[in-house]
Amino acid sequence: MNQVDYLRISLIDRCNFRCQYCMPEGTELDYIFKQNLLTDEELLTLITEVFIPVGFTRFRLTGGEPLLRPQVVELVRNIASLPETQDMSMTTNGFLLAPIAQSLYDAGLKRINISLDSLDADTFDLIIGNRGRGRWQAVWEGIQAAYQVGFNPLKLNVVVIPGVNDSEILDLAALTIDKQWHVRFIEFMPIGNGDLFSDRGWISSEELRQRIRNRWGLTESQVRGNGPADIFQIPGAKGTLGFISQMSECFCDRCNRMRLSADGWLRPCLLNETGQIDLKGALNGGVSTAELRQQIKHLLTIKPEINFKQRDSGNSTGIYTRTMSQIGG
Ligand code: SAM
Ligand code: SF4
Repeated sequence: MNQVDYLRISLIDRCNFRCQYCMPEGTELDYIFKQNLLTDEELLTLITEVFIPVGFTRFRLTGGEPLLRPQVVELVRNIASLPETQDMSMTTNGFLLAPIAQSLYDAGLKRINISLDSLDADTFDLIIGNRGRGRWQAVWEGIQAAYQVGFNPLKLNVVVIPGVNDSEILDLAALTIDKQWHVRFIEFMPIGNGDLFSDRGWISSEELRQRIRNRWGLTESQVRGNGPADIFQIPGAKGTLGFISQMSECFCDRCNRMRLSADGWLRPCLLNETGQIDLKGALNGGVSTAELRQQIKHLLTIKPEINFKQRDSGNSTGIYTRTMSQIGG
């Protein structure tokens, strides 16, 4: 059984983009009320008194859009400075990144994943929704700033949608040739985006690899590594290509993570709500941190069973109704 030591923490469920594949415009989302978000203090209590003592040492901040969280730099500093924190990272859309990239780095964030689904500003607008028009440039500046500041690894996440951005696969892969950037292609999942997924379908990692192989060749750098990605490289490239194949492969057997939602629900599996614990409710209801540690230890023992049941929790069409932004992607 994998050691589960990695916690993905959603700082906020809101976002300044409305990506078609994540929280499509027109979908009514039940946002968490501000007073129901975990406070900074509650989050730090949970990390220091509950998660670290049961063995979590690696933390990723995500959302929604984590950079919308007030005092995010301070929060990063507080988590990164804990002696037990071995790894601290963030997944962001990059829109607000450029002006604070240096402060985040100085606060202890050394690794970052930035979503970049297209190199074409119009396609990018189409993907991120009308509210985000004209934002490609700011995201690109965020990526450049992260590179200048020295984030390492600097990963670019691409969700591939047939007929929308799959024609750009080679251009996106080519970003890894001259710079030590790591592009990760993520198979499109039917989570919270029913119509788009039903209309477009998805493309497998193997098909993407074949297209890249035909152009440059592809060497296996690290297959079945520590995380969910299979890592490859264009021969001679400085960076790598990662493929996250949660649709075409089941990688439950190497799942090493749990997710904490912005309102304090701990979820052992992305696609399954079995076993989740309301940690904010418990803290506010006077449950001791010692008791919460016991509950999480128990959850860790049953997590493998929960993972392998994952696909049971979709509805009859196989579409999951909660969005990635709500679960904490
Ligand atoms: N807002 C940040 C961002 O976009 O990077 C962080 C949160 S977002 C939910 C985290 C990751 O989930 C992003 O890389 C995004 O592309 C991915 N994601 C969201 N919806 C997805 C879907 N339906 N299928 C595959 N990946 C998805
Ligand atoms: Fe926002 Fe990220 Fe979801 Fe896009 S993928 S809508 S940027 S949370």
